Amino acid sequence: MSDSFRAMMITDVEGKPKAGFADITQADLPEHEVLVEIAYSTLNYKDGLALSGKGRIARRRPMVAGIDLAGTVVDSSSPDWVPGDKVVVNGWGLSETEWGGYSRYQRLKPQWLTRLPAEFTAQQAMAIGTAGYTAALCVDALERWGAIRPGGGEVLVTGAAGGVGSTAISLLAAKGYTVTAATGRPETHDYLAGLGASGFVARTDLAEPGGALQKERWAGAVDSVGSTTLANVLAQTSYGGAVAACGLAGGMDLPASVAPHILRGIALLGIDSVMAPQDKRARAWALLAAHLDKAKLDTIARVEPMSNLPQLAEDIVAGRIRGRVVIDVT
Ligand code: NDP
Repeated sequence: MSDSFRAMMITDVEGKPKAGFADITQADLPEHEVLVEIAYSTLNYKDGLALSGKGRIARRRPMVAGIDLAGTVVDSSSPDWVPGDKVVVNGWGLSETEWGGYSRYQRLKPQWLTRLPAEFTAQQAMAIGTAGYTAALCVDALERWGAIRPGGGEVLVTGAAGGVGSTAISLLAAKGYTVTAATGRPETHDYLAGLGASGFVARTDLAEPGGALQKERWAGAVDSVGSTTLANVLAQTSYGGAVAACGLAGGMDLPASVAPHILRGIALLGIDSVMAPQDKRARAWALLAAHLDKAKLDTIARVEPMSNLPQLAEDIVAGRIRGRVVIDVT
């Protein structure tokens, strides 16, 4: 029990948060009810911000980083979970206020755990990760709003070659939607076409300020970019459509007009994955289990050892990562 294991931690060095590896034991973990042996974690944009120091993600330090984890319950004082249960955890403040997934073991609150769908291995669940589960939250929100239907108008996905974008394309295409990918990396067109994108828009076409109401092109959209891109997407969405906004890869501002909302009835659906209630999580994971093509998931993701995290963090913040990176914490 006192055996040490390696964790990626954020500590204060000369008053500033700094990421580095540390050896810890189970006795160091928080006093939550469920002990999970972690098999895999992932790399998300937020992880990149936390580890590279480019965003103040860890609000409590020392902090074990990693916003996602998948593994097996090994000890539990909660009636809801027993040893052997396969679980996935996305968000809930992991890496912000609660210790996260870049560790061999973690102690967690029972209400943070979601049962791993039988359709996925722990590795596949982390290939999906917060990015993929957020993509599913977006698709679920657009469908429940009634803005999109398979075989209806085109659905736009911005930040297409990133983690959210790749999974959104894959999921939408599998459900029979016509998907257009907005990307700044033309070299990813073949990859995105392989996931199911049938049309492409250059990132730059959406990056410059445009009119408040533009030509109606999209029945709906999944936006992980924000800023001027989101404003243009709203202005190009067809009457009665909706845009699920989940990200800020292009900026946190929104230089937009109310015109699309009040003249075309466009809905802007805000998507948060961190504190999303369990019913939304369950719907998102069920959507992924029912529709995500496992073969495509394997083309989206690659596995990297925890030792590569410092470089990977720099890469994702610089927009150099394609698809999803699974982190082997063993
Ligand atoms: P990735 O870095 O994997 O993907 C982001 C993509 O955005 C890039 O691949 C790139 O796509 C595009 N992009 C990057 N920089 C810019 C830029 N300056 N202008 C326009 N486009 C840009 O990140 P994730 O997919 O993991 O996350 C995407 C966003 O969603 C992030 O902002 C993240 O914080 C947010 N997010 C929010 C969640 C929530 O709960 N609301 C949960 C998960 C993520 P391409 O190369 O194709 O152009």
